[in-house]
Amino acid sequence: GCGLCVKACPFDAIAIVNLPEELSEEAVHRYGVNGFKLFRLPIPKDGQIIGLLGKNGVGKTTALKILAGELMPNLGRTDVKEVPAEEVLRHFRGSELQTYLQKLYDGKLTVAHKVQYIDLVPRYLKGTVGELLKRADERGVARDLAQEVGLDALWDRDVRNLSGGELQRMVIVATLSKDANVYMFDEPSSYLDIRERVRVSRLIRSEVKPGKYFLVVEHDLAMLDYLSDNVHILYGEPGVYGIVSQPYGVRVGINAFLDGYLQSENMRIRSTPIIFSRSVQAAQQEAEYKYLEWTQARVRLGDFTLDVMPGYINGGEVIAVTGPNGIGKTTFIRYLTGELKADEGVPFSYRELKVSYKPQYIGPDFFPEGMTVADVLRSVNPEAITTGTWLYIELTEKLGLHRLFDREARELSGGEMQKLAIAMSLSREADLYLLDEPSAHLDVEERLAVGKIIRRLTETRKAAAFVAEHDIMMIAMISNRAMVFSGTPGVHGIASSPAPLRASMNELLSQLGITMRQEKESGRPRINKEGSYLDRLQKARKVYFEV
Ligand code: ADP
Ligand code: ADP
Ligand code: MG
Repeated sequence: GCGLCVKACPFDAIAIVNLPEELSEEAVHRYGVNGFKLFRLPIPKDGQIIGLLGKNGVGKTTALKILAGELMPNLGRTDVKEVPAEEVLRHFRGSELQTYLQKLYDGKLTVAHKVQYIDLVPRYLKGTVGELLKRADERGVARDLAQEVGLDALWDRDVRNLSGGELQRMVIVATLSKDANVYMFDEPSSYLDIRERVRVSRLIRSEVKPGKYFLVVEHDLAMLDYLSDNVHILYGEPGVYGIVSQPYGVRVGINAFLDGYLQSENMRIRSTPIIFSRSVQAAQQEAEYKYLEWTQARVRLGDFTLDVMPGYINGGEVIAVTGPNGIGKTTFIRYLTGELKADEGVPFSYRELKVSYKPQYIGPDFFPEGMTVADVLRSVNPEAITTGTWLYIELTEKLGLHRLFDREARELSGGEMQKLAIAMSLSREADLYLLDEPSAHLDVEERLAVGKIIRRLTETRKAAAFVAEHDIMMIAMISNRAMVFSGTPGVHGIASSPAPLRASMNELLSQLGITMRQEKESGRPRINKEGSYLDRLQKARKVYFEV
C-alpha cells in the first residue's frame, strides 16, 4: 500500500487514481487517525469565482472550511493536537495560498459562507424573512438582492413556513449582503428550479469585483460553468481521501472532468468518458410506435388546477418535464400513473404498461419495514445486487449503494434514500419510467451515471421515460423531447404538449433570457455569458438554444 489508508488498499480494484509518490508531502488535513485525508487546496483568486467540482465525500466542504478559517488544517498530522499557523503557512510558502492564508490568519479577510445543509436554518433562526435579512445586511442591499431573486413577496413570511427553494434563496441573499472579502457557496442550486438557478447565478456573478474572492461548490454543471472563471476538480476515494487538482479554465476543466482525464497532471479519474449524445434526432426517428397517449385534460388538486395539453410518448423516448416549482410537474406525473383523476380526459396506453415510478419526496415509509438495502434491491431485480452484471456496475456501484447493502433502508439518510429509490425504479423491468427530480441530492458523477442509464434503458428496451428535472445539462443529455410547464405556480399550471428538445429548450431559454450553445469539442451545451458576442448574436437571431 502507499500508506494513504489503513484499510485494504483500494487501488488494485480501481487502478484509476495513480497516486504520485510525493503526494504524502502535500497532505493538508486528516480527520483523525483513520479519517478522511485531503491533499492540496483550491486557490482563491482576487476578483474571480473559483468552482469546485467532484463527487460527494472527496473533501469539497472540508476545503471550503479550511479556506474560511473555520477548520485549522493539521497537515495530515494526527499525532499533535494542533499545528501552529506558522507551520501551515510554511507548508504553502511561495504559493498564492500562502498569501491568502496569511491574510486569513492575520484577521484581514472576513468570510461569508453559505453552508451546504440549509434545512436546519429554521430551527436556529426565528423571525420573518425581512427581519432575518435585515439582521444579516451589512451593506444595506438585502432588500434589492431579495427582489432580484423573487423573495420580496415573502418579506413578511415566517422562516418556518418557507419551502426549500425559498429558504435557499434567503440564505444566499443573506450571505451576499455581508460586507466580506470572501464569499462561499456550498451547493447553491439545491431545491431551486431552473429560473431560480439562473437568477441566483446572475446575482452572484454581478457581485464579483476586485478585492473579493468567490468559491462555489456545485453539481449542476451548466450552473457551475456559467458561474466560474476557473475550476478545481476534486477526485479520489470518497470518505477515504481527496486530491485537489490544479486550477483549470472553466471550459477545459469541465471537459477534462467529463473525459475523466486531467491532462496537465496526467491523471485518470474515471475509466470511461461521459459522452453527450449528438444523435438525439436519430433516436427520435427510430422511436416509431406510440406507448401512451393523453387527451386534453383538467386535473384539480385542492386550489390548484392543471390543464394538460394533448400528447403522446413513443417507445425508446425520454421526455423531460420542466418548469418552475409549484407549476404541476408532480401532479402531471401522478396523473399519468393513474393516481390522480381528471375532470375529463384520460391517459390511455396501447397495451398493458408496466410502470416504474420514483416520486419526488422519498421518506422512510417508501421502503418496507425491516428490509436492508440489499433486500430492497433484490426484491426488485436480483441483478442489481449481483457483482459483474451491467446493473450492478452501472447503477448500484455508481450510486455507492453496494457500500450500504447491510443497512436498514428506513434508517438511511435523506440522500441515501433518494439513491436507493432511484436504483429501485431503474432496476425494475418496466415499459414506462416516471422519475420525479432524480438529480436532487445526487453529486455530479451520480447524475451523469443516472442520465446514462435512463438513455440506455430506453434505447435498448424501447421503454419510455418522463423525467422531471431542473438540471439543464441533464435535460439536454437525456431527452428527445420536453414539456415546458407555464402558468402561475401554486394556482394554475399548463402542461404543454411535448415538443422536440430544440424547440422546447428555445422556448424555456427565451423565457429565462439566456442563450446556450453546443460546445464543439465535447458536444455539451453551455450557457453563454451574458452580453457576450454569442449571447447577443443568438438573441438577435432568436436562437436561444444552438445545437
Ligand atoms: P464533500 O463536500 O466533497 O462531499 P466533505 O468535505 O464534506 O466532502 O467530507 C469529506 C470526508 O470527510 C467525508 O468522508 C466525511 O465523512 C469526512 N468528514 C467530514 N467532516 C468530518 C469531521 N468533522 N470528522 C471526521 N470526518 C469528517
Ligand atoms: P411541481 O412538481 O411543479 O413543483 P406540484 O405538482 O407538486 O408542482 O404542485 C402544484 C401545486 O399543487 C402546488 O401549489 C402544490 O402546493 C399544490 N398541491 C400539491 N399537492 C396538493 C394536495 N394534496 N392538495 C392541495 N394542493 C396540492
Ligand atoms: Mg459537501
